[in-house]
Amino acid sequence: MLIALDRDSGTVVTGPEAHTTQHTPHSSTRRGTTTDPRLPGRDANTAPRGVRADGGVVTCTATGPTGNPRVEQSRAVHTDADRESEHRYACSICGDSVTLTAPGNVTGRFDWFRHVDGTRDCSATDATGALHREAIELVMQRVSAIVGDPDLVEPETRVDGDDRFVTVDVHADSQHSPVAVEIFTAASHMHLRRRLSTLFDAGYSVFIVLAVNGRYRPRRVEQYLQRVSSVPVTVGRFTPHGTSTASSHESVDRGASAGSGAGGAGRVSLGTQLSRHVVDVDAITTPRLPAYMV
Ligand SMILES: [Zn+2]
Repeated sequence: MLIALDRDSGTVVTGPEAHTTQHTPHSSTRRGTTTDPRLPGRDANTAPRGVRADGGVVTCTATGPTGNPRVEQSRAVHTDADRESEHRYACSICGDSVTLTAPGNVTGRFDWFRHVDGTRDCSATDATGALHREAIELVMQRVSAIVGDPDLVEPETRVDGDDRFVTVDVHADSQHSPVAVEIFTAASHMHLRRRLSTLFDAGYSVFIVLAVNGRYRPRRVEQYLQRVSSVPVTVGRFTPHGTSTASSHESVDRGASAGSGAGGAGRVSLGTQLSRHVVDVDAITTPRLPAYMV
C-alpha cells in the first residue's frame, strides 16, 4: 500500500514521506535476522517457540509468502530500530502492523508498506485499477488530515439511502457530519444526480475529485457544475505518480495538494465541499449538463 497510519504522530503518511522522517535503515536487516533460513535457529523447523530462557515470549504469526513463519520475539533479538519499523506503522484499513519498505526495494507504487505477517495488501482489490487505487489512498491521507483522526476514514464504503445505495470511494465520519469523496478516473458515467441526492439525503457533504489525465477534464466538469451551484465551485484534482505537468490536461495547484510534490509523487486536492446548500440536485438534468454527468 501507498499510505499507512504513523502511530507516533497519529497521522497518515505516504511511503515517500515516511522515509523523510525515518532515520534508521531497517527493512533488509530485519528480514535477515528473522527469516533467513541459513541462520541457525531462525528457520521454520528450528525456530524457538514458547517462553525463552530470558523470560521473553516467542510468538509465531501467520506464514508469509516465503513459507517461513515470521518469528517475533519479545525481547533481546530485535534492535530498537527493527522494533520501531515493525510497530510504528499500521495498515490504514485493517489496523495491523505494516513495515516500511526500503526505497531500493520498492518495486511498484503500492510497495511502500507491507503487512508484517505477509498477508495480502488490504487495499489491493482486483476490481480497482492502479490509478483509482492510488487516488483513493492519497485522498484517504488528505481526508485524515482534515478530520483529524485516521481511524474515522475508510475506503469504498456503502451508503444506504431510502430506496437505493451508493458506494463511495472514501468515507469519513466527522464529528459534525459525515464526508464522502467520489473519485472519477476512468468511469464512463458520473451519475451525479443519483449519487449526490442519495448522499445529501443521508446527511453527507461530498467532494468530487477528477484525475487530471482522466476521462473528463476537471475544468469542464467545474464549468458544468457551476450551472447548478449557488456559489463558485471547484472540483478536486488527482495527479498520479509520475505525471509531468506539461502532459496533463491543465496545470495543477501544487499548493493545495497532498504529498511533497517532488520527484513526480502523486498528489491530490479536494475542491469545494458540496452540500444541498451549494448544489441543486434537482437541476442536474440534460441538456443543462452533459449526459455523462447526470
Ligand atoms: Zn491491512
